[in-house]
Amino acid sequence: MSNCIFCKIINGEIPSVKIYEDDRILAFLDISQATKGHTLVIPKEHVDNIFEVKEEVIAYLFSKVPYLAKTIKDAFNAEGLNILNNNGKVAGQSVFHFHVHLIPRYGSEDGYQPVLINHMDDYTKEDLEKIAEQIKTKL
Ligand code: 5GP
Ligand code: ZN
Repeated sequence: MSNCIFCKIINGEIPSVKIYEDDRILAFLDISQATKGHTLVIPKEHVDNIFEVKEEVIAYLFSKVPYLAKTIKDAFNAEGLNILNNNGKVAGQSVFHFHVHLIPRYGSEDGYQPVLINHMDDYTKEDLEKIAEQIKTKL
């Protein structure tokens, strides 16, 4: 897509620091470096996000994620690594070319803080069954 910043990175119109590239995907350092080694993995074929991506495109991309994650973790002796993928503005997506963040973790104050708030007290078992049913009828 001509006005997409990540397509421009793929085409070399915008510079980037690449760590892995093949005919279908590119992995390059995120300019924000939430933590040292923070990497983005993107398909070369433009799609906005998870709601559009073809199964074979995401399957190939994720087939490389464990190898890239382990390599990044080992390169800096990180203790762990978060995988993050934002879809839609409300979910924090700011670049609308599908991408997976690989964020190596060094400790609780290393620059990245994923927070999942526990709302389990707000839902009964029946509520959960109703939610599951609503989803399953759409599968
Ligand atoms: P999102 O918020 O969409 O999940 O993530 C977009 C990411 O792209 C952000 O973490 C941001 O730092 C990164 N980013 C935006 N523009 C550029 C750029 O020109 N080069 C690189 N390397 N990263 C970028
Ligand atoms: Zn693009």
